[in-house]
Amino acid sequence: MPARLFDLTGKSAIVTGCNTGLGAAMAIALAEAGCGIVGVNRSDPADTRARVEGAGQRFVDVRADLAALDAVDSIVAASVEAFGRIDVLVNNAGIIRRNDALTFSEADWDAVIDVNLKSVFFLSQAVARQFVRQGAGGKIINVASMLSFQGGIRVASYTASKSGVLGLTRLLANEWAAKGINVNAIAPGYMATNNTAALRDDRERNDEILARIPAGRWGAPDDLAGPVVFLASPASDYVHGHTLAVDGGWLAR
Ligand code: NAD
Repeated sequence: MPARLFDLTGKSAIVTGCNTGLGAAMAIALAEAGCGIVGVNRSDPADTRARVEGAGQRFVDVRADLAALDAVDSIVAASVEAFGRIDVLVNNAGIIRRNDALTFSEADWDAVIDVNLKSVFFLSQAVARQFVRQGAGGKIINVASMLSFQGGIRVASYTASKSGVLGLTRLLANEWAAKGINVNAIAPGYMATNNTAALRDDRERNDEILARIPAGRWGAPDDLAGPVVFLASPASDYVHGHTLAVDGGWLAR
């Protein structure tokens, strides 16, 4: 397999929420494949910046709160100013709120939908407009979940948002594939990050989850390195609207 299929030399990627967890691992993997990174975060992504620069790539630090849409245009403008163009968008930032459906609050509904779904759509729209201006297509990689496929429990707004991400990935692929824009998603399984700390701290839930994962272990952020480089690279040019589970076999059970 020619290495150039996965080569991102000279390209640039916006990665949201890359100061920690899965976003950090994906930003570093893209950088190691040759890609400059625009990191969109609420706080200082010091470790990620150091790892990206350690891989010999430029890291541009953009501060934004994706709970609102105010920053969308400035994220695109900062990326174009820094790199002259955008090649890849990774919509990774996301949050989760847990409560019984009978008592789930409107605030917990809106907070999750705003970050996990609304910002994903409007940032994708703004970046796709830039892709169209550039005239050479581009790659959008959304971050879905097992709860894009399953119902889950006590996470109503999260399940709604991630099921929405899967549908939106298909819709955007339908509208933009002919423009050379690949829209796909990665659905991580149960990965050891801040997002799942509460689950891993609950011994009963932790044991239940582990017993159901064919691979026999929680996923690590680095397990997303290959999939994100694939979906960002020429190797995936004819892959459109797909949500790729990276789940240790969870969905195969
Ligand atoms: P995490 O909590 O470690 O990271 C989430 C990132 O999103 C952080 O960088 C955070 O600062 C950022 N973020 C949250 N709200 C934001 C806002 N308003 N504005 C800007 N940035 C914001 O969790 P993670 O596990 O690394 O999650 C990354 C993505 O992967 C999320 O979309 C999450 O839903 C998804 N996911 C995680 C798992 C898992 O098992 N960990 C499984 C499936 C999907």
